[in-house]
Amino acid sequence: MKPPVCEICQKRLTLDSDSESTGGLVWFKNYQPLPPRMVGHPKGIGWFCGVHYKQAQTLNNLDMTDAIQQIKSSL
Ligand SMILES: [Zn+2]
Repeated sequence: MKPPVCEICQKRLTLDSDSESTGGLVWFKNYQPLPPRMVGHPKGIGWFCGVHYKQAQTLNNLDMTDAIQQIKSSL
């Protein structure tokens, strides 16, 4: 699993906080779980900070790269 850094702004997430603005993981259409015992970051899943988390969730019917592109182009 990747360190919790926002896919859009590269901000590190503070997961020790319970605040709503923390952000979290979003699963996208192209999500593929890792095979058993394989170490790494699964495809199609990404961390998003509080600023970009909700927007990422509304785009989770897309492939992650498309969603990231859409969020970045809307900034
Ligand atoms: Zn962000």
